[in-house]
Amino acid sequence: MSTADILEHYPQSWYAATANGLTEPVRLEGAERADVCVIGAGFTGLSAALNLAERGMSVVVLEAERVGFGASGRNGGMIGSGQRKDVLELEAMFGLERSQQLWQLAELGKLEIRARVAQHGIPCDLQKGQLVGVHSKRYLGWANKLADALAERYNYPECHALDAEATRGMVATEDFVEGFYDAGAMTLHPLNYTLGLAAAARDAGVRIYEETRVSRYSRTDPVTVSTESGSVSASFVVLACNGYLGGLESRVAGTIMPINNFMIATEPLGEERAASLMGGRFGVHDTRFVVNYFRLTDDDRLLFGGGENYRRGFPKDIAAFVRPYMLKFFPQLHDVAIDYSWGGTLGITLKRLPHLGRLEPNLYFAQGYSGHGIPIANLAGKLLAEAIGGQAERFDMMASLPVTRFPGGTLLRYPGMVLGMLYYSLKDRL
Ligand SMILES: Cc1cc2nc3c(=O)[nH]c(=O)nc-3n(C[C@H](O)[C@H](O)[C@H](O)COP(=O)(O)OP(=O)(O)OC[C@H]3O[C@@H](n4cnc5c(N)ncnc54)[C@H](O)[C@@H]3O)c2cc1C
Repeated sequence: MSTADILEHYPQSWYAATANGLTEPVRLEGAERADVCVIGAGFTGLSAALNLAERGMSVVVLEAERVGFGASGRNGGMIGSGQRKDVLELEAMFGLERSQQLWQLAELGKLEIRARVAQHGIPCDLQKGQLVGVHSKRYLGWANKLADALAERYNYPECHALDAEATRGMVATEDFVEGFYDAGAMTLHPLNYTLGLAAAARDAGVRIYEETRVSRYSRTDPVTVSTESGSVSASFVVLACNGYLGGLESRVAGTIMPINNFMIATEPLGEERAASLMGGRFGVHDTRFVVNYFRLTDDDRLLFGGGENYRRGFPKDIAAFVRPYMLKFFPQLHDVAIDYSWGGTLGITLKRLPHLGRLEPNLYFAQGYSGHGIPIANLAGKLLAEAIGGQAERFDMMASLPVTRFPGGTLLRYPGMVLGMLYYSLKDRL
């Protein structure tokens, strides 16, 4: 099978065009036995599989499409510190002690990624640094308050607030009134990281079957996981499908809403023009409800993410959909061609807190990272392996976060949520 044939199964993203280590798919045929069957080969599933195999368990991963086909191979590559909600919000929700525990767990997610890249030599362009650009005067002072809180109460001195001028010194946009720089946050090439995790998992003995969609599983012990052409009998099952879960498990489908988010990659800008936009390879995102995010690539393109929709299906012309968001930040790029455009689906929860748990003593799940899945899905994989291995304390800490089902469950969650999302995204624009 040629590389072009393999690539046909991925969206036509810049990530797919620069992917390392693509392999031919192996499909599940017949019956297999494993200690753990993981459904879904994104960050959650692969991180769980690799950590489980390192604990001496036999693991099968079943992936409906290809490794990294889901959000893990399509995202902005921004590895933010902490949880999706910042520590000021978490302190208000849960108090200082629990907020500190959640911070430490999120740091473990970042550490897991750094350690995997180093241990397995994953070529995924891991870079340090992230700037949050404050888009509205309403939020003035937030950056200072957050940096102080992190230094004083979380022993994390890596952040500092920037005034408007200093922020503009880092990014040539008029959009930001203030900035928050986190030297300990990171960026990476998400598809290459995912492919690297899969390679490491295979080396550790994990059997990964692609183009193998799970249609159902039994509520028995052991569990029988069924696909069109085979089955796996497993002592434990890990559900790691997030925004791509569909109707596979109605008991958790109603706590997440799948939303689509979109990205573009410009043509190579040349070293000088790229450097005129940003003073480095750090990642940037803003404080809008529908977040805009961008960064430079090693071949001097601007990768830009912006715009969402809340229905099944992507806009016909994604480049035309995202381009105006980019031009709002960088009108100076009006003459630049867009070489790649793509979208992906992620799972958000009502409270923007992840949803981890057990549906049966032998059926685990993790989902709903709400746009913060690079650190937290990788953390979830590690904690899933700990819990299945008998050390559930840290998993249970994440699993105890409150989740609310979307009003109307899986069938009716859309109309109300869509209205809500449209309302807030309109507020962004006003
Ligand atoms: C455009 C975009 C930008 C984003 N930017 C960022 C960012 O910058 N930073 C950040 O932290 N997060 C970001 N996210 C979110 C992040 O990508 C996700 O939270 C994370 O990748 C979720 O990983 P996962 O493994 O849980 O799910 P996924 O990577 O979505 O993987 C789920 C897999 O399950 C498979 N699957 C589904 N059903 C079945 C079945 N029945 N049988 C077998 N397999 C099945 C799917 O094919 C898929 O491969 C972004 C998401 C998108 C879409």
